[in-house]
Amino acid sequence: MNVYFLGTGTSQGIPVIGSIHSVCKSTDFKDRRLRVSAWISWEDYSYVIDCGPDFRQQMLVSNCQKVDGILYTHEHSDHTAGLDDIRPFNFKQGSMPIYAHQRVIDNLKKRFDYIFETENKYPGAPSVKTIEVVNNHPFPIGNKIAIPINVMHGNLQVFGYRIDDFAYLTDVKTVEKSEITKLKNLKVLVVNALREEHHNTHFNLQEALDFIALIKPERAYLTHISHIMGFHEEVQQKLPENVYLAYDNLEITI
Ligand SMILES: [Zn+2]
Repeated sequence: MNVYFLGTGTSQGIPVIGSIHSVCKSTDFKDRRLRVSAWISWEDYSYVIDCGPDFRQQMLVSNCQKVDGILYTHEHSDHTAGLDDIRPFNFKQGSMPIYAHQRVIDNLKKRFDYIFETENKYPGAPSVKTIEVVNNHPFPIGNKIAIPINVMHGNLQVFGYRIDDFAYLTDVKTVEKSEITKLKNLKVLVVNALREEHHNTHFNLQEALDFIALIKPERAYLTHISHIMGFHEEVQQKLPENVYLAYDNLEITI
């Protein structure tokens, strides 16, 4: 399985508009981060996790030719705002399967009402096929099974996903014991780490490292990163041996 980090930034992206912060002014390509998203592919299958406001740019840069479905983590804009840009895939492939918690589907129906219109729908509007994700109900994607991982983003429920020995969790602050048991024997864990300072709804760096130490994957990658975390090169040097700061367009094979 191939995992392509389409975006590794927090909600504003890096650089932040108008910012004079040194990380926002960095010329290192690893310090430029689009909104968080990942593209997973194997054999002839291709799925993305989340579809934020940078989706179009991410599809162009990664040269993604086909998307068999979108797995949503939650409804926040940095994870959903790009839904209108699935149209080129609709024209090639037809309706796009989207997998999400029922609450997220309901939220998308409100925010993208024209996509879900049943009467007089504009012919060029995006087209989706909704598939409800329910905790403790693994579901098929292509010839693999995705296991939902129920986590909390402050008071908001969020789904992470495990596919084979790979798990992707973003916007996590707390995880119940029942979910931790679903994360045994991972080759790769992707988890959010916002910055060093405390945050109410996101793991900070130490919380992410503690979580990784608890889960014990072979390798871990940090994502959903704020410019306040610091320069990629400097932060990477402080991390344990098997932990990496992800960056945009990083590709790994599992
Ligand atoms: Zn987010």
